[in-house]
Amino acid sequence: MNLEELKKKQIEQMTRKGNLPKDEKEVVLHLVEEVGEVCEAIRERQKKDDFEKEVADVLWQLNKLCWIRKVNLEDAFLRKLEKNEKR
Ligand SMILES: [Mg+2]
Repeated sequence: MNLEELKKKQIEQMTRKGNLPKDEKEVVLHLVEEVGEVCEAIRERQKKDDFEKEVADVLWQLNKLCWIRKVNLEDAFLRKLEKNEKR
């Protein structure tokens, strides 16, 4: 499954549950909060399982932001890879 397929599944689930994101500022705050939780997991040397949950939370929020902004993260990432390759 690629990134766009994951985002599609997430949005389908959120639609079904009636909790689609509306406010991008709120989503950005959640994203930053989740990044903070990743930092905490590292600092506190949490188990791999807990760390994985936190990085998945980051992708969850990032997907919401990309959905609101109509960004194809996979394409954007591939462009970034290509740009870095030429450096
Ligand atoms: Mg979290």
